[in-house]
Amino acid sequence: MARRFSGLITSENPNPMYGGGRNGVGIDRIVIHHNATTKKNIAMSTWYTSSGNYTSAHYEVTPTEIIGCVEETYSAYHCGGTGSNDVPKMSNPNERSIGIENVNSTGAPSWSVDPRTVANTAKLVRDICDYYGIPCDRQHVLAHDEVTATACPGGLDVDEVVRLANGGSAATPVQPVAPTPKPAASNIPAGFTPESGTFVNGDTPIMNRVGAASFNAAQGGYLPAFASWKYDSWKRVGNYVMIHHVYNGAHVFLPVREGSVAWGTFK
Ligand SMILES: [Zn+2]
Repeated sequence: MARRFSGLITSENPNPMYGGGRNGVGIDRIVIHHNATTKKNIAMSTWYTSSGNYTSAHYEVTPTEIIGCVEETYSAYHCGGTGSNDVPKMSNPNERSIGIENVNSTGAPSWSVDPRTVANTAKLVRDICDYYGIPCDRQHVLAHDEVTATACPGGLDVDEVVRLANGGSAATPVQPVAPTPKPAASNIPAGFTPESGTFVNGDTPIMNRVGAASFNAAQGGYLPAFASWKYDSWKRVGNYVMIHHVYNGAHVFLPVREGSVAWGTFK
């Protein structure tokens, strides 16, 4: 017995999406995915038959929505593998399963999923398990990468989904740690010490140098008196200190200190 959608959906996406028959295969697995995008509409649009992608899922889950996409009656194209060497680790992966996609709350590299989305997916998993009599455990509720070779489901923890689906309480929310902003390493020339700041010039214009931290390098132009110059690193060059930034793809160097005398101030 099959049904169109779980009673938990908040809306149906009316666009025609990829789907196929189940060929008499019973539903006994749920496969969990992440969108690999923070935009639900971008994710769902890739499942439309007009997209040419031959991919789809039964549900799209967000912090506030459970959207019906491909009816449960049909198989969706979500875990069949990409062909060639990517052989699914179970038979009839799409025919036997229901695929749940989750929108990301952050992009690469963490691909996090909002705890509210995880909670909604857990409710949906519980409902699907109850409807079809599927054991709600990690043998039957799988991460996409447990079926085929893929980076999906990103930062989504399927253990947590199953724990919540079985009545567990949410794990203590972990305050995300903001990454320390630092200049891209590739921008910093060899020998320079990374440090972000702003140099505010004194009353004398300073000639900058392009391409190399040297007074023999090409002259780029004067930094006017009292003007500011953002820098990402610095280096002692002889009796001087030069600061660096990248401008229009070029390495630009500005002498700002001679001996112990700074030619301006640093913020
Ligand atoms: Zn996936």
